[in-house]
Amino acid sequence: MTRRMFMADFDVDLFVIGAGSGGVRAGRIAAGHGARVTVAEEFRVGGTCVIRGCVPKKLLVHASHYREDFHDAAGFGWTVPEASFDWRTLIANKDKEIARLEAAYTTNLSKSGASLVNSRAVIEDPHTIRLVATGARVRARFILVATGAAPNHGKPIPGIEHVISSNEAFHLDRLPPRVLVQGGGYIAVEFAGIFAGLGSRVTLVYRGENILRGFDDDVRAHLRGEMEKHGITVITGATVEAVDKTRAGLASRLSNGTIIETDEVMFAIGRKPNIAGLGLDQAGVAVNPETGGIAVDGFGQTSVPSIYAVGDVTNRVNLTPVAIREGHAFADTVFGGRPTRVDHSDIPTAVFSQPEIGTVGLTEAQARAAHPRVDIYKAEFRPMKATLSGRDTRVLMKLVVDGDSDRVLGCHIVGEAAAEIIQAIAIAVKMKATKADFDATMALHPSAAEELVTMRTPTARHGRDGGK
Ligand SMILES: Cc1cc2nc3c(=O)[nH]c(=O)nc-3n(C[C@H](O)[C@H](O)[C@H](O)COP(=O)(O)OP(=O)(O)OC[C@H]3O[C@@H](n4cnc5c(N)ncnc54)[C@H](O)[C@@H]3O)c2cc1C
Repeated sequence: MTRRMFMADFDVDLFVIGAGSGGVRAGRIAAGHGARVTVAEEFRVGGTCVIRGCVPKKLLVHASHYREDFHDAAGFGWTVPEASFDWRTLIANKDKEIARLEAAYTTNLSKSGASLVNSRAVIEDPHTIRLVATGARVRARFILVATGAAPNHGKPIPGIEHVISSNEAFHLDRLPPRVLVQGGGYIAVEFAGIFAGLGSRVTLVYRGENILRGFDDDVRAHLRGEMEKHGITVITGATVEAVDKTRAGLASRLSNGTIIETDEVMFAIGRKPNIAGLGLDQAGVAVNPETGGIAVDGFGQTSVPSIYAVGDVTNRVNLTPVAIREGHAFADTVFGGRPTRVDHSDIPTAVFSQPEIGTVGLTEAQARAAHPRVDIYKAEFRPMKATLSGRDTRVLMKLVVDGDSDRVLGCHIVGEAAAEIIQAIAIAVKMKATKADFDATMALHPSAAEELVTMRTPTARHGRDGGK
């Protein structure tokens, strides 16, 4: 579409609410297509991923690995003097890097021709936005809601005011000597690893039977074992019912009767889409009652034709690359004359736990529910580095294969560099590679990933002769 078509009685062609992963990409691409774009941000440009999500989290994960590395170095002949760690230095350096990224995002947005307003924005009607900072109204031909999500502590419990979320965990004054983390999702598991690696005594409390619901069961069991070897206490089947302030810290009362005293209590039990007070009702934008996210079609269009939504606020696949892809597809669809649907299948994902998880495609349980015959190839082994370091750790590699077509339906890895490996494996899975393709690929030796092309015999075959 040409620029002329967007003029008429609108101040802008596109008003984006939220300068996070999805909003920034959509704004830049739409501006590149010739649209007049304004982006509103109420907090900091970059959104959750850059400011208090993926990026600072990964920096803390890197920091937390050094304890293990210094220890393991001894087996390779290194003498490392007593290492010490300074939390404040880490946080200051991390904050500097985040500020640099925020500036880069802001510059790129302005270079694209989009304009930025630092204000909360709310929707008044299908084409009107109100800027809370000034009260000004903006008429937009299209509105894109890219407001993301925020931590959700669940139902209030006594002492909830003492509980922090991942947002505050990035800005603590000191490394807490003892931490209780409640939650079993990837954020809880990652922070448990970060704190433990940096030297805190960590207890992870999760209400379900095992951590990482939705991941492959072997992965869940394997990681739990590895976390326990790292000294993390994992308590499942229990919840925190109250948190009392004591002279020595915070006492968490669990549903199983246990009381655990720590210096910090962090909840990572879920996130809720940022839709409160946004004016969705007023504009007639429907929310999906099951997920609490804004309901959209395959192109990101909501129940109101001029309003679209992308990213975490739609509560579908809450990952940065997905929000970015959705933002880009929206801009191409609406302003680029190229209707683009985002394919949400076979999205690789990582958990930056210690050790890391990398996964793509179906779990064993999902594959068995969807395919009549499923073959499993599984290997568990000691990584080469551990032979000299003496560390008690094992790698898990698993392929889930369609027994009829031979297609690799899923790949699951727990071990060092799992995230890096799975990004490349995801290409093969997306291309519908078969187990025979994996077998035909030469191994790269010595590596852990070579196991993925050398597993010859299934460890389980489901669906034949009516059973296992
Ligand atoms: C601790 C943590 C770790 C994570 N780690 C990973 C990871 O390793 N890999 C990964 O892929 N994903 C990770 N994520 C998820 C990732 O951060 C999100 O999926 C991604 O940021 C979603 O992008 P978005 O554009 O939908 O929203 P966001 O990036 O959250 O951006 C939304 C923006 O909208 C602003 N906003 C909200 N309401 C308004 C309003 N009314 N007016 C103006 N502005 C508003 C917010 O301030 C925010 O800046 C992590 C998340 C967390 C919390």
